[in-house]
Amino acid sequence: MSHAAIPSRQGVEAEPDVRILETFELEQRMPHQNSAVPSDYEHRLARHFPQLGEALPQPKLSVELFPPRSGPATETFFSEVARLAAVAPDYFTVTSGAGGGAQVEATFDTVSELRSRFGLDVAPHITAAALARDEVAPLAERYAELGVTRIVALRGDSAEGVGKAYRPREDGYAYAADLVRGLAKAGKFEISVGCYPEVHPEAENAEADLRHLAAKVDAGASQLITQYCFDTDRILRFRDACHAAGIRAPIVPGVMPIHQFAQVKRFSSMCGASIPAWLADLFQGLEEQPELAKMVATTVATEQCRRLVAEGFDSLHLYALNRADLTLAVCRFLGRCNLHLVDPAMAAAA
Ligand SMILES: Cc1cc2nc3c(=O)[nH]c(=O)nc-3n(C[C@H](O)[C@H](O)[C@H](O)COP(=O)(O)OP(=O)(O)OC[C@H]3O[C@@H](n4cnc5c(N)ncnc54)[C@H](O)[C@@H]3O)c2cc1C
Repeated sequence: MSHAAIPSRQGVEAEPDVRILETFELEQRMPHQNSAVPSDYEHRLARHFPQLGEALPQPKLSVELFPPRSGPATETFFSEVARLAAVAPDYFTVTSGAGGGAQVEATFDTVSELRSRFGLDVAPHITAAALARDEVAPLAERYAELGVTRIVALRGDSAEGVGKAYRPREDGYAYAADLVRGLAKAGKFEISVGCYPEVHPEAENAEADLRHLAAKVDAGASQLITQYCFDTDRILRFRDACHAAGIRAPIVPGVMPIHQFAQVKRFSSMCGASIPAWLADLFQGLEEQPELAKMVATTVATEQCRRLVAEGFDSLHLYALNRADLTLAVCRFLGRCNLHLVDPAMAAAA
């Protein structure tokens, strides 16, 4: 269980006696269950599940995109971004392939266009796998010239694909911590790094993974964005473990609205994220019913986000995968209902 304080409806930490009262109230509403109290009953009562309509603090939001393929995909991309920009996320991030040159430039071009078309605050991802050590500072300088102030620094995966054995390039940084150190020297960027509530699949063990995470903070990272994790309790336990390990940088849970369950399941098996049985059950048989699957996906992501906010996280990172709908629905449930519409045609003309 998380050690986080449980916010009451007024946002004040709940005193134990208030919790007892809430327990009592809940028992009144569940009279039939009082005779057979499940063993984790206390545990579940100690959690806070925010009701719809209950005032929650508005979290800061970042939205992750990936560079579009060329051709018509590019205009679709920018019109989806225009829709996302309407809920004014605090910033966007753009991933970068670990494969080198062309992928690094695709990220750069996307960031450059997002800034010139929409004036958005955008953080590029930079991966150690894609660059020689002496290519890092010039790339960072080019980003600084675009007005970029944030970077997400990652090791990257094997060029052969996620889940394949990783071998660092001889002329590059071996781990993300080394890349962070290189970037921090410029002193121009707020640097975020990745972290793993379910432990990175290549880590020796959970303790070693936390030690390596601490090294990234020592090297200059000021924020930790999590891999998506559908088990919210695990994210809370991960936060506790980070605190216990003396890691004080803010943790930003990464939340994945599920666009295609089969695809997410496949990717999860490669990147070490688990698919809980309850989640598989929710999507079972919906392969040919995309509209229904979208409704389910919205509820899953919304519930997770609202609970994370109720548990005290003040920032969330949404893996939008270049599609606006689900992310926009989640943003609404997080209180972002005022739209600042951006006309994609005008944005394209800018
Ligand atoms: C928010 C987020 C965004 C991402 N964006 C991208 C992206 O744009 N492009 C992309 O290619 N990938 C991306 N990834 C995936 C990421 O590149 C992979 O998860 C990669 O396998 C690990 O990257 P890292 O930066 O966490 O690596 P690291 O922090 O270097 O850790 C990698 C592994 O090495 C271990 N380790 C670290 N230091 C040491 C050491 N000194 N000695 C021994 N072991 C060590 C760690 O425990 C871990 O198991 C992203 C991941 C996240 C969470």
